[in-house]
Amino acid sequence: MTARILDGKSLAETIRAETRADVEQFRTQFGRAPGLDVVLVGEDPASVVYTRAKEKASGEVGIRGTLHRLAASTSDAELGRLLDSLNADPQVDGILVQLPLPSHIDTQRAIDRIDAAKDVDGFHPVNAGRLALGRPDALVPGTPAGCMRLLELSGVELAGANAVVIGRSIIVGRPMAQLLLGAHATVTIAHSRTRDLPRICREADVLVAAVGKPQMVRGDWIKPGAVLLDVGTTRIELPNGKTKLVGDIAFDEAKEVAGAITPVPGGVGPLTIAMLLANTLRAAELRLR
Ligand code: NAP
Repeated sequence: MTARILDGKSLAETIRAETRADVEQFRTQFGRAPGLDVVLVGEDPASVVYTRAKEKASGEVGIRGTLHRLAASTSDAELGRLLDSLNADPQVDGILVQLPLPSHIDTQRAIDRIDAAKDVDGFHPVNAGRLALGRPDALVPGTPAGCMRLLELSGVELAGANAVVIGRSIIVGRPMAQLLLGAHATVTIAHSRTRDLPRICREADVLVAAVGKPQMVRGDWIKPGAVLLDVGTTRIELPNGKTKLVGDIAFDEAKEVAGAITPVPGGVGPLTIAMLLANTLRAAELRLR
């Protein structure tokens, strides 16, 4: 069997087009664009690229995107003051603090300081709590929210399915497991202390890998016909000195066994920013309507 490839890139385009149309309606109703404010502390090269991409993507769907660049030496108190002013600004609908923060800044305190109604990354304890309670008013982190859209695309029946999520981070693993539970799957969360991971994976009708260990999940871990979502992205060096982005799943082996699989790149990755934009619009609507 050769698995169907789940095309995250084209789904992300669809989501952006939907958001663009909904933003237009929002502008007509409220007389302004929704606003997303992204806060970057320091010069981490990957974070600079991600935050610029978020600002640019905002503009492409008609959202006002503003990037606040703060020096790496910014204190907890200075960051807190900026977040307070964004919380208080009625034109700001979404706030996100790009992670990782420099080590002298308390990340949890920074996340907690964001108004939960504007927390478009969905990392605030209020949103994590709402998601855990199965409440519809949670703002859900973009990556797992995008994975759910991919699962819709795969046509898999989640009710009663065995779902295994490898990874338990607040960014991916935990919210992913909550979303699958909300969709009535029977969910197992695996992590670095899990025993006999291959055996657990072989039970999975749906397998989500969010680890960051290149090609860890092998073809003989896969249940025939399973749907595989590969969240992991690691840049590896090839023997010829070039580099390549790979996922947590050994794609070439797994695609011979699975029913559907996301590639890396072009699978889950493009959905994260698309869902962030959709979340910004949703946060604006939840606050204003
Ligand atoms: P993270 O915070 O480092 O979490 C990794 C998780 O994997 C942890 O829960 C860890 O377990 C678990 N783990 C580590 N080694 C393991 C092993 N040998 N067996 C089973 N579980 C193991 O990472 P993250 O932020 O969730 O990100 C995971 C991956 O997804 C990374 O490659 C990241 O780059 C990628 N990612 C991609 C996107 C996207 O847009 N596509 C978005 C976010 C993340 P413990 O909890 O026990 O330590």
